[in-house]
Amino acid sequence: MANTDTEGVAGNLTHPFLDPDGDKLREECGVFGAINAEKAAAATALGLHALQHRGQEAVGITSFDGKDFISRRALGHVADSFSSQEAIDELPGSMAAGHVRYSTTGGAGLRNVQPLYAELASGGFAIAHNGNISNSLALRKDLVGKGSIFQSTSDTEVIIHLVATSRYPTVADRLIDALRLVEGAYALIVMTPEGMIACRDPLGIRPLVMGKLGDSILFASESVAFDVVGAEFVREVEAGEMIQVGFDGEIKSLHPFGNQKARPCIFEHVYFSRPDSSFAGHSVYEARKAIGRELAIEAPCDVDLVVPVPDSGVPAAIGYAQESGVPFELGIIRSHYVGRTFIQPSDSARHSSVKRKHNANRGLVAGKRIVLIDDSIVRGTTSLKIVEMMREAGASEVHFRVASPPTAHSCFYGVDTPERSKLLAARMEIEPMREFIKADSLAFISIDGLYRAVGSKSRDKACPQFCDACFTGDYPTSLTDLAMSEEGTGELPFVDPKAA
Ligand code: SF4
Repeated sequence: MANTDTEGVAGNLTHPFLDPDGDKLREECGVFGAINAEKAAAATALGLHALQHRGQEAVGITSFDGKDFISRRALGHVADSFSSQEAIDELPGSMAAGHVRYSTTGGAGLRNVQPLYAELASGGFAIAHNGNISNSLALRKDLVGKGSIFQSTSDTEVIIHLVATSRYPTVADRLIDALRLVEGAYALIVMTPEGMIACRDPLGIRPLVMGKLGDSILFASESVAFDVVGAEFVREVEAGEMIQVGFDGEIKSLHPFGNQKARPCIFEHVYFSRPDSSFAGHSVYEARKAIGRELAIEAPCDVDLVVPVPDSGVPAAIGYAQESGVPFELGIIRSHYVGRTFIQPSDSARHSSVKRKHNANRGLVAGKRIVLIDDSIVRGTTSLKIVEMMREAGASEVHFRVASPPTAHSCFYGVDTPERSKLLAARMEIEPMREFIKADSLAFISIDGLYRAVGSKSRDKACPQFCDACFTGDYPTSLTDLAMSEEGTGELPFVDPKAA
């Protein structure tokens, strides 16, 4: 069995992503896998394209042709490297898995682009991971001490070494053995010569869904990936569930980690997932509108227009407008072609990528009292620029409503957050935040309001129904690497998720 690995470099290496100011939380990865598919690599490329919003820095696809694993990896977008027939023809076989990413733990660079691959005693092993292992540095230190040699700086490689050193006879048992040592968040797609394994961490923090297209079984981070390949959504992979699919079509489901109450990431509802996906049993679009309705009840505003901050604020703004009876209008127009940094004709144009991305609909907002609806405030710099833009366009009052509670804590589960000291809500109470963004008023949805909007009566304080740690600081797992770094007991450098 051999592994062929080709690396490509897309034309535009410096995508400024969706948020050129780094003022949004960014989901770090999306995964897709297909087995028993006629054109597994083509389906994977298409599925990854639908998940592009989850990671725009690099992409990789690995296929298995019954004998060999073949990998192709590149920096840039899916379409840059996997849209041609030639690229797909390089990835033959009925099983393939792929990954789009920003960098979390491990940093950028082709050697960290997934799926990662290793030749184990049992044969080839390819793994694509969405999430973040919060004890990866501690595990890595232990493994290196026992002689493991790492090829990348990715936390995912820890799983490969744990599988390689496990003493159980089958790959599935070795994977279970490995994952028992891992803490944090993971949605995994694994390929072996026997078939595909999909697995979600015991709390189901990161999403993973299962689909079907004829005889082929698919797995993806979001249901929207099934829509684009013409597959049907079957169900979510449950928290702590491991699903094995063989080349004979047999499907086995295991729950090897006991039955803990699921705590999926509530921010998937707020921002990460595409609105045309479903998550935790709900339409993301409908959940966002419900968040807007709750926000209108909790924080009404006497204004002429409800204006979304595009695009992520749109569904919540629709809900806010419907509940309040205030007209919804597009007072900000977003350019969909923000890309490279341009030579600017004047100093005044240079400073703001926000101005390239958003422009005021001047004729609409001039003389009007408006309320802006956005999904979140992270550093606050974009919010400030947008409020200023509305005032420059002649708005007589600019109020701000946020469709999530204040983001006051960093995420350690696979979402790129600035270090805590850079989060506006970690530094300030609401009134100083209002002054900082120069709005006439500022309000956030409450944590219970957010829970109500996504289908719960209220937040269960003893055992919350979601991970909401970036709002509450209530992390659902231990954070070993962070604790060791803060205590200075493990000589482990703290890996700032933003710098990683
Ligand atoms: Fe999601 Fe926030 Fe939890 Fe991270 S900390 S998994 S962004 S809810």
